[in-house]
Amino acid sequence: MRIDYHMHLEYGDYDETWVQGFFDAAKSRKLDEIGFSEHTHTFPDFEQLYYDDLIVDASPTGIFQRKWLQTNKFKHTIQDYFDFAHRLQERHAVKIGVEVCNFRDQAAVKKILDAWDFDYRIASVHFLFGWAYDTKALIDEWQRRDLRAIWAEYTSEVERLAASGLYDVLGHPFNIRLFKFFPTFDVTEYLERVAVALKNADMAVDVNTGTMYRYPVAEISPYADFMKVAAAYELPIIITSDAHNPEDCGRFHDEAVEYVRAFGYDKVLRFSKRQREFVNLS
Ligand SMILES: [Zn+2]
Ligand SMILES: [Zn+2]
Repeated sequence: MRIDYHMHLEYGDYDETWVQGFFDAAKSRKLDEIGFSEHTHTFPDFEQLYYDDLIVDASPTGIFQRKWLQTNKFKHTIQDYFDFAHRLQERHAVKIGVEVCNFRDQAAVKKILDAWDFDYRIASVHFLFGWAYDTKALIDEWQRRDLRAIWAEYTSEVERLAASGLYDVLGHPFNIRLFKFFPTFDVTEYLERVAVALKNADMAVDVNTGTMYRYPVAEISPYADFMKVAAAYELPIIITSDAHNPEDCGRFHDEAVEYVRAFGYDKVLRFSKRQREFVNLS
């Protein structure tokens, strides 16, 4: 099967005409099933958690991030999302997922998530030290901070998310490479720790082509060194595009299939109400 479970609707709206583009792209790339994974910053339920965790002080980073939080965020309730997705499901093979940021307060996250019947939950490390490290406008922080501390913090955040037991998938692992700040130190420990955390939490790896076309690194995440470790630990995978624009749904899917096959993978996960099954890659 060909499945893509990671895409976002925030550049458009809950509008069937606009969303049709995702299904058209899926069809042209011969995908059997897609799934939306709305960011938690779509939903007002999570708003306070962002203000609790992100730097929103008078520093340049704080000012930028406050503005970011005030732009095009928290615009639909989770109920709106489910209602819209259920309407789509009358005509399309589409699953209802969510991509959850790495909030400090996992008990609060659990309370919100458990009220809803998501098909799958992706957890992604989007912030380190309260900084949205994947934001181009905040790239200066990369120069200011110690790269080893960034890798260590990233790893600890994954361990924390995994230990919560709330998630099915880790989104785009090690996308901290996205701006090409590559470590010159040995990262084996970090790769191993992330793999162990995922294994213990029974979480899958999101093989995400978004970093191929959305960021300077232009490679699929996770990168090969982690894929080797993931394969050694027999971590299950999904293959996704992280499409924010309809035409990107399924983008580089063929390349990703070839990529994972090179590490011995011949199956991906299919989700339904957080029950998973292995299906053959095609
Ligand atoms: Zn993400
Ligand atoms: Zn995403």
